[in-house]
Amino acid sequence: MIMTNPAEEMVDEERRREFVEVARDFAQREIAPHAAEWDREKTYPADVVKQLGELGFLGLLASEEFDGLGLDPLTYLMIMEEIAAADASVSIALSVHNSLPSYILESFGTPEQHEQWLRPMARGEVLAAFCVSEADSGSDVGSLRTRAEWNGSSWVLNGTKAWVTNGDVADLLLVMARTSDDASSRTRGLSFFMVPADTPGVEPGKAEDKMGLRASRTTQLALTNVELGPQHLIGEEGKGFRYAMEGLDRGRMGVAAQAIGIARQALEHAVKYAGERKQFEKPIKDFQGIGFMLADMATQVSAARALLHEAARAEQRGEDITMRASMAKLFASETAVFVTQRAVQIFGGYGYMRDYPVERLLRDAKVTEIYEGTSEVQRIVIARELYSSHD
Ligand SMILES: Cc1cc2nc3c(=O)[nH]c(=O)nc-3n(C[C@H](O)[C@H](O)[C@H](O)COP(=O)(O)OP(=O)(O)OC[C@H]3O[C@@H](n4cnc5c(N)ncnc54)[C@H](O)[C@@H]3O)c2cc1C
Repeated sequence: MIMTNPAEEMVDEERRREFVEVARDFAQREIAPHAAEWDREKTYPADVVKQLGELGFLGLLASEEFDGLGLDPLTYLMIMEEIAAADASVSIALSVHNSLPSYILESFGTPEQHEQWLRPMARGEVLAAFCVSEADSGSDVGSLRTRAEWNGSSWVLNGTKAWVTNGDVADLLLVMARTSDDASSRTRGLSFFMVPADTPGVEPGKAEDKMGLRASRTTQLALTNVELGPQHLIGEEGKGFRYAMEGLDRGRMGVAAQAIGIARQALEHAVKYAGERKQFEKPIKDFQGIGFMLADMATQVSAARALLHEAARAEQRGEDITMRASMAKLFASETAVFVTQRAVQIFGGYGYMRDYPVERLLRDAKVTEIYEGTSEVQRIVIARELYSSHD
């Protein structure tokens, strides 16, 4: 919905505030108090994700006609920040589901596919995963080896996916596979398939033992002679790479919101601690060195949020968001690492201890510079967009 006059904008602002408050209340009540324990025990909070689904959090972007909430991008991202400020592991489960399988299915799927898969996803009855990366194919998507062969009546998928978020808890898997070899472009023969997780031949591996996001499930996924009818192909054969890049523009903005949520939480802990901790007979916040660190942290968080919200407004206006999404993801993820490192520094020795929250935030922050395109890949995208706008 494009905002056309101030009155409409106020109504929309009111609605946005309400959604964000609901998210904040739920996140602070049901998620934040458990985040440290879930991280320690590597517990995936299935009940909480189910509850979030019932409340509409798995249909944040899906249109109302498919039982989603059809939120505008800015409201969606503000909600994602609230969830991430409570627990980044929960936020990535929601972010992947909403911005990748859900968005790609709604944008490129048929009315039958919308009925069969999108509606239950938006209602929160079904959790989805996005399966593109492989052990030898990360940044270089065009090198992926999973194949889908047409046998005259079905597609037959074979290959192994790596690092799938929600890998062994998802009910539906959006899988990218090679359907043809095109000598002129390695990304041209890639296609997306919707694969129910209980299809014979689908086998998740064990959950990865990760540095951070330890309450999120990340697994391998083996596909052995997985037979799918033609209705499982999403959109046009061979267009999967383009669909993935469009979804990833949204996904990267979701990761930026996640990074901002992590950084905001670290900043809040650091400000509080700096007021409580005394050395040399005064609170450490009275030392200018600490104040300057906190000032830089707060400035970066605000700048990251401003960049992301501007990208969201550009999406709302229907503009191309590739460069803005990459900038927001790059800056927010590097901010999250910068801010969480300094939060650990401000906590001193206690910051290094698992009993305090900031070391977890630093571990959680790091992955935002890696997944959905590393910082190097974001710089490649930004530079390419810059050059093409000057051609
Ligand atoms: C916790 C977690 C969850 C994930 N969830 C998912 C998921 O749900 N679905 C999914 O499909 N994938 C997922 N991934 C995979 C993730 O997207 C990849 O790890 C990421 O894209 C990087 O790929 P890679 O690990 O193979 O690194 P590589 O591509 O091997 O990169 C290694 C290094 O080389 C750099 N590099 C690579 N190419 C270039 C270049 N051209 N110029 C300069 N530097 C370069 C990279 O930036 C990086 O520093 C997840 C990963 C993690 C860690």
